[in-house]
Amino acid sequence: MNVTPSNLSARPAKMADQLMLIDGKWRESVSGKSFTTHDPATNQTICQITEGDAADVDLAVAAARRAFDSGPWSRMSAAERGRLLYKLSDLIEKHQEELAALETLDNGKPLKDSLAADLPLTIKCYRYYAGYADKIVGRTIPVEGNYSCFTRHEPVGVVGQIIPWNFPLLMQAWKWGPALASGCTVVLKPAEQTPLSALRVARLAQEAGFPDGVVNVVPGFGPTAGAALTRHMDVDKIAFTGETTTGQLIMEAAARSNLKRVSLELGGKSPNIVFADADIDAAIDGAYFGLFFNQGQCCCAGSRLFVEEKIHDEFVQRLVERAKSQKLGDPFDLATTQGPQITREQQERVLGYIDAGRKEGATIHCGGGRPNLPGYYVEPTVFSGVRDDMRIAREEIFGPVMNILPFKTIDEVIERGNRSQFGLAAAVWTRDIRKANRMARSLRAGTVWINCYDVFDAAAPFGGYKMSGIGRELGEYALQLYTEVKTVYISED
Ligand code: ADP
Repeated sequence: MNVTPSNLSARPAKMADQLMLIDGKWRESVSGKSFTTHDPATNQTICQITEGDAADVDLAVAAARRAFDSGPWSRMSAAERGRLLYKLSDLIEKHQEELAALETLDNGKPLKDSLAADLPLTIKCYRYYAGYADKIVGRTIPVEGNYSCFTRHEPVGVVGQIIPWNFPLLMQAWKWGPALASGCTVVLKPAEQTPLSALRVARLAQEAGFPDGVVNVVPGFGPTAGAALTRHMDVDKIAFTGETTTGQLIMEAAARSNLKRVSLELGGKSPNIVFADADIDAAIDGAYFGLFFNQGQCCCAGSRLFVEEKIHDEFVQRLVERAKSQKLGDPFDLATTQGPQITREQQERVLGYIDAGRKEGATIHCGGGRPNLPGYYVEPTVFSGVRDDMRIAREEIFGPVMNILPFKTIDEVIERGNRSQFGLAAAVWTRDIRKANRMARSLRAGTVWINCYDVFDAAAPFGGYKMSGIGRELGEYALQLYTEVKTVYISED
């Protein structure tokens, strides 16, 4: 990959301070407060963001309610809603380099990844749901007696959406695509660490022609703006992606307020299982990518790497070589493969886990510290000799820390792979189709990848078993999260 100065010049120039979008207007928060968003690669301030709280959430929810009940949105045909989503996806495509740069600036992920992964997946997601808008259909049901019976799949109403900082653009697309295709109106709270791309997409939604109040964006903090959304009596549904403990708070707030519908996409500790009969080169690639992609900040990171004993030592050695080849540096340099962690707090947290791994007796092969760079970087780290009961094997680290656990038999690895409170994803590497099939059936996870990792498509559902969440995003399944089923009987007498 050639690194030319023009790659580095993709870094956006000084950013203006940012307002919030409520009812089609860009405005200051009611309190007049603002907060700072930082560049995690340099530790520098990017700009100030107006800080939403309960009063702003009230205004945004009222606007979304009006738009849902009586605005042009409520009379718009499903096909027209689809056309607006197509326009939004076209505008995102037109501005993809600008959006990728904004994402990299605010999040720290390598620009190469923003361009090659985040933007294409985001655009595809909006397009996929644009196509679905006029294909959300009910059923006619042959009931007993003299009645016609059919179902209508109606939008659930005003939706509160709370997203994390690891894939800001993509998480917004996963939330907005199905919600808007279904005819809901939304109030989005982006993560306080990464509000910039959500606000830019909101401007593009206005440009696309979404009526006022259909999309509202209230930046702010979780316990204030986020919590206000979750306990609001006029929000019909809350969709959340983030930590499991936050998901529990959100479900509780939903239960204690108006029993709003809840969908949750939470943490993981996904087993990535390599059998000795696997294509080892492919498995090395998959193990490396499955953990180190996005600085290890993926809910579905393959953070428990089970390797069959027969190939264990060679596998560890080759994986350590790969980890050492990571190039840490300026995320705007296209040669960089690993950027900083999102904040100092996350950096400290990851380093704390590395410390715990050392203390509990795992063998560290590389990394383990902070490199001599200005931002919140953590060296790519590989542990072997990890036992199931160690903290690094049980808890979500959300950083570039690989934990390798040896295994002997298929029965053993099924039992150990499933021995987790999480169940978001799993992967298996083998050339034996029967073994692959048995693993796919036995692993209790929302996604099982066979001889691949981190494959995503807007058409295929994603979500968790157990404490990894409730509901499935993406695909046709996500439409169920945003629709109510109404049964209509018509007497034929
Ligand atoms: P992380 O620790 O990785 O930032 P969180 O689950 O805390 O993960 O954050 C994900 C999103 O949830 C962010 O937008 C954050 O502001 C929001 N959030 C955090 N706490 C709460 C809460 N108590 N109620 C609602 N939203 C919250």
